[in-house]
Amino acid sequence: MATEAEVAHLAAGFHLDLLGGFATEPADGLPEEVATVLLFGALEPGFWDYLATCPEGRDRQPDPVDRWSRRALDGLARAIHPGARPRFPFGGPPHDPFPAWALRSGRCRISPVGLLVHESCGLMVSFRGALWLPGAVALSPPFPPPCEGCAAPCKDACPIGALTPAGYDVPACRSWLAGAEGHACMSEGCAVRRACPVGRDRSPSAARARHHMRSFL
Ligand code: SF4
Ligand code: SF4
Repeated sequence: MATEAEVAHLAAGFHLDLLGGFATEPADGLPEEVATVLLFGALEPGFWDYLATCPEGRDRQPDPVDRWSRRALDGLARAIHPGARPRFPFGGPPHDPFPAWALRSGRCRISPVGLLVHESCGLMVSFRGALWLPGAVALSPPFPPPCEGCAAPCKDACPIGALTPAGYDVPACRSWLAGAEGHACMSEGCAVRRACPVGRDRSPSAARARHHMRSFL
């Protein structure tokens, strides 16, 4: 089985970022032959420009990011091990429990606003897929929890208070985004996610943020 460094290197060749993983336990409820779960996001910064060079980014068909994710994870699985099985956070039901897997990895926590926050990507964390592997991969220990010692600007970054420690008012957010005042969120991405100081060097481009916000709307 490949080492963590080898997996990260192979993943980068597919423009994927190894965001964590864990050795499975019976309580995870996964098939017996799955020994390790590894989680991947798109490699940032620069993913959107890269996607524009890919078939999925040029063919003007729906869901370019999901279609690219399938191709990238399928390729990575073949490169790592014949028994590797790609899994995706889209395309269900049924839906794989990506948020639970993220917490199991120890590299994500629940932020003060209830969203997952990743040790390196902050509130911008986004999983594009996972691999189920039949063998063990020794993983380095997680960093200290990202919110420790942070002044938590995420708590009051939403201009209308739709996403705070009190919860997420999705209808209010959608209504704001649909109006002229929501232009900043629509063009640059959610202000709460952008307020997080963790992972700013790996933030997605404004173009990817716009795509995400349009999909959300
Ligand atoms: S802004 Fe600070 S408290 Fe909020 S999610 Fe980011 S690191 Fe955690
Ligand atoms: S997208 Fe804008 S309105 Fe919606 S939760 Fe984020 S900051 Fe608030």
